[in-house]
Amino acid sequence: MVSPMRNRLPSVLIILAAAAAFAVACGPRPDPRLAGASRAASTAGWIPVRLQGSPSQIGYQHGYLLAPEIKDALDVMRLSLTRDTKRDWAQMRGLADSVFWPRVEAEYRQEIQGIAEGMAAAGVKADVLDLVLLNASMEIGYYTRALDRSKTPAAPERCSAFVATGSWTRGGKPVIGHNNWSGYLEGSRANVIFDIRPEKGHRMLMDGFPGLIHSGDDFGVTSAGLVITETTISHFAGFDPAGIPEFVRARRAMQYAAGVDDFARIMREGNNGGYANTWLVADVARNEVARLELGLKHVTLDRTGDGYFVGANFPIDPKLIAEETTGFKADPATEGTLVRKARWDELMAERKGTIDVAAGEAFLADHYDAYERKPDSPSERTLCGHVDLSPRGMKPWQDEFGPAGTVQAKVTDAAMAQRMEMVAAFGHPCGIAFKAAEHLRKHPQFDWQKPLLRDLPSGPWTRFTAP
Ligand SMILES: [Zn+2]
Repeated sequence: MVSPMRNRLPSVLIILAAAAAFAVACGPRPDPRLAGASRAASTAGWIPVRLQGSPSQIGYQHGYLLAPEIKDALDVMRLSLTRDTKRDWAQMRGLADSVFWPRVEAEYRQEIQGIAEGMAAAGVKADVLDLVLLNASMEIGYYTRALDRSKTPAAPERCSAFVATGSWTRGGKPVIGHNNWSGYLEGSRANVIFDIRPEKGHRMLMDGFPGLIHSGDDFGVTSAGLVITETTISHFAGFDPAGIPEFVRARRAMQYAAGVDDFARIMREGNNGGYANTWLVADVARNEVARLELGLKHVTLDRTGDGYFVGANFPIDPKLIAEETTGFKADPATEGTLVRKARWDELMAERKGTIDVAAGEAFLADHYDAYERKPDSPSERTLCGHVDLSPRGMKPWQDEFGPAGTVQAKVTDAAMAQRMEMVAAFGHPCGIAFKAAEHLRKHPQFDWQKPLLRDLPSGPWTRFTAP
């Protein structure tokens, strides 16, 4: 049984290409680098942004159009990263400079430099190292924990995702969906829909975070007919500082991969082990779905034209579990990821042959606790995550009642992907809103987040197209 959905609000069709030419209208002497870029009015919690051109143009447009949001994102990272890594911002910038920046290729260096220049033109100061740190924020914890020889693995984000095709879906073609689990502090800012048309490579329609050149989250539809998403491998430990940053590989794969093999090759090339994920990919033209469990030492690619893969942060390969995770016990009593995996398998079986976008929306809002066999029981064990409601928390990532969980969700199918289209819901897709002040009153141990923790309202499923 899928939890009943709240009343469905009508989808709003946002055509990114038709967005008002905000950039051109707002400055007295518009910079020619802004040509073709736009930022549409916020819709159901999302900010639709269109970027196009050379790497430095794309960056400049990004920095200019999202300058206040990037500044706010940097304030959030300054608060949370320094606390998580026990290092001050200057030390963190030093690591960005010595470990990450030297391994960013020219194309993305130009884009990041462009972001800083666009922000400066909009009157907001940030330099390249701030932005490198922001881009590496999901993986730098893997490095600092390795440096500190910490026994606590870095697993900053957790998500629920599925991809299915063949006899499993209503139309026999791929359907794919993902919800993003984050601390609400950061996750409430993952509200940008990027339509990127680069000079080279494929067009991308992806959700994202202000200032990031990759989705980060990750969910993207590309003009190569690929849809790409992932869930983090929990309990993962390992990092190779000589490798290519994950944020570079993830963006490169989204932009340049022509198929599943290509995607796997790009993600593996120079793998640094940072932000280690199990990637789910749909190739809609070839009607193939795939799962790439990308450890540092152990990498497994599975693919099928008739089947499904699900993600809920559980590690899969026994060798990866033995050699690259710490503290993972295959016990659903303590490991909520396994409870969510069991729920995914139940839902897939229940909806076999009828999985479509509407089913995907319901899956991602599901509140069935498969451990206690209890419906309507939102927590860290349910596909729609509400760690803030859980007396168990989600150790070691979140303490009891940690303000974290699902912050947004996206679904698409083969026909929509071919039109560069997805539906997305900001906030929990189930209708439950998070109220920051009320939560901090009940759980003052999280008061350190007070200056920047926001409410997270639940928005309707909304259709975004980049024709
Ligand atoms: Zn929920």
